[in-house]
Amino acid sequence: MIHGAQQHKSKKSIVPVCGMKVSQEKGFSKMYQEKEYRFCSRNCLIKFDDTPDVFLTSDGDTP
Ligand SMILES: [Zn+2]
Repeated sequence: MIHGAQQHKSKKSIVPVCGMKVSQEKGFSKMYQEKEYRFCSRNCLIKFDDTPDVFLTSDGDTP
């Protein structure tokens, strides 16, 4: 799991739904296809739950 050098110190995940950064210990988490995703709010989690594939097409940080 190699991201940019930016994310080395603070463990933050990018919410696939809204693009916000969320700390590991905050927000909501969900396992999907053996990966853990984090969400800033329950709302984002629900959206992801509805149509996960829509939010995963860009595969994270890939430009
Ligand atoms: Zn969000």
